[in-house]
Amino acid sequence: MVSDLPRFLTPDQLGPHFDDGGPIVLVNNRGALTKRPIHRQKAHLILSALYHREKELGSRGRLISADSYQEALQGLDLEVINPPSFGLRRRVTELSQHASVTVLPARGFVISEEDFADFAGETKKSAWKMETFYRHIRHTTGLLMEQGSGEVEPVGGRYNFDEDNRLPPPKSQDTLGVPEAWWPVEDEIDARVRSELDELEQSGQATFMGVDGPRVFAVTRQEALDALDHFITHRLDQFGPYEDAAMVGDWAMSHSLLSAPLNLGLLDPLEVARGAEDAYRRGVARLSSVEGFIRQVVGWREWVWQLYWWLGENYVETSNYFGHTNPLPDAFTTLDPDLISSNCLKTVIAEVRDRGWSHHINRLMVVGNFALERGIDPALLNQWFIDAFVDGTPWVMPANVVGMSQHADGGKVATKPYLSGGAYLNKMTNYCSGCPFSPTVRLGEKACPFTAGYWAFVDRHAELLRGNYRMSKPLAGRARLTDLDEVVFQEAHRTHF
Ligand SMILES: Cc1cc2nc3c(=O)[nH]c(=O)nc-3n(C[C@H](O)[C@H](O)[C@H](O)COP(=O)(O)OP(=O)(O)OC[C@H]3O[C@@H](n4cnc5c(N)ncnc54)[C@H](O)[C@@H]3O)c2cc1C
Ligand code: SF4
Repeated sequence: MVSDLPRFLTPDQLGPHFDDGGPIVLVNNRGALTKRPIHRQKAHLILSALYHREKELGSRGRLISADSYQEALQGLDLEVINPPSFGLRRRVTELSQHASVTVLPARGFVISEEDFADFAGETKKSAWKMETFYRHIRHTTGLLMEQGSGEVEPVGGRYNFDEDNRLPPPKSQDTLGVPEAWWPVEDEIDARVRSELDELEQSGQATFMGVDGPRVFAVTRQEALDALDHFITHRLDQFGPYEDAAMVGDWAMSHSLLSAPLNLGLLDPLEVARGAEDAYRRGVARLSSVEGFIRQVVGWREWVWQLYWWLGENYVETSNYFGHTNPLPDAFTTLDPDLISSNCLKTVIAEVRDRGWSHHINRLMVVGNFALERGIDPALLNQWFIDAFVDGTPWVMPANVVGMSQHADGGKVATKPYLSGGAYLNKMTNYCSGCPFSPTVRLGEKACPFTAGYWAFVDRHAELLRGNYRMSKPLAGRARLTDLDEVVFQEAHRTHF
């Protein structure tokens, strides 16, 4: 039955699956735009999505502008769909002390937090990994599953096609050459948002990171459906092979660019995955690409969402296995690529400046890897990702940044640090050919900060790493380095990267 109580929806809950037909309250929380510098295009995306939703809802919707959620909602009787962060859930509890607030279970993910707790309870410690969870999801949803001679089996006989999806970028090409991604056409609401943000900036009320630019990501349900359809029809088939590669001239590669509309709640992950599965069954996209994509959407995305709650509210603040305390480099806080020489990092920081987005490999293998080798404080890095990326949300970061990319939890999320030297970057990207450093050099002017930084990291943390059998190769490599002391000294004094 539709409730008469107005339902408060956060900017992560803007799609039809959060709307049961009753009155809706949206909040333009100016405090979220002004209290700390966030990317200009992230502010644009959130406001544009809220204003578009307000327009769609017509008389059923009400948008309140205020400096905080409390100011906007205090004293109102409300219905709330359990929101997607510890902070927001606390705000809801506070609101319930002054009014009648009905909290409905969270939506927009594949399984509930209770079902995840059951899964976790039944899973042996040795099987505690995304792959086990992903297979569980494949079984519970039936995605890419079929009846075999006895049991239900994965389509193609395997759950995992990762080994087909690790090609280095094609040589003698500047781009992957896949059809262009879907683009939105800005409208009068975007123009209004732009002047509102200009005013906030000019009056000194807000400082933004990065640059303004044409909107890149979907902000309405219709745009999100168009973007999904375009990706499935034109780009999904080629998603897989180059999933782990990066190219200077191709910022989007064959990625879907759907994280922003997914995180705004405009698309449901299961509908996205079913759309991809359907493309395979219709012969529009190859199985290895479809499986690789479905793994991202209902595997990784769902896993990091569930881990956010599972690891707990203090996970970020209490995880610093390597004791890293270095501040973020100025190039990160200012998003100024001109402060950087290395072609890989320079390219990625320029992408973040220009769009508030860079693809997964750039986030993990370039930015995360750099931060780990340079000993940057994982909690600072976590906040930087939230602020600088248009798809950054509090729930998506801890497992990705603190767990996967920084190994700051000592192994709860990932079994080993995600660390790589210049040689691997040179294999999987075309960044090195335009770089003043050389991936094979670890001493002197041309020493690659990733190669030399790798050895300096392994040396600095040798004692901690010794307990991890997956790090035995790097430790053995360190023992063979004749110039280790010089490399370590050089990296401790490096000012130029
Ligand atoms: C250090 C680091 C920071 C990240 N920051 C964010 C972030 O701020 N917001 C965000 O949504 N994702 C984040 N990710 C995950 C992933 O990099 C992005 O979801 C992806 O790059 C978005 O681009 P896309 O939509 O083209 O993704 P595609 O490559 O097309 O993948 C499809 C979808 O799968 C989901 N997905 C894939 N991998 C992950 C993952 N590890 N965690 C969560 N979802 C995933 C996303 O919803 C994505 O849209 C981060 C990963 C790392 C390692
Ligand atoms: S040489 Fe090193 S710093 Fe330069 S692009 Fe390659 S990996 Fe990056």
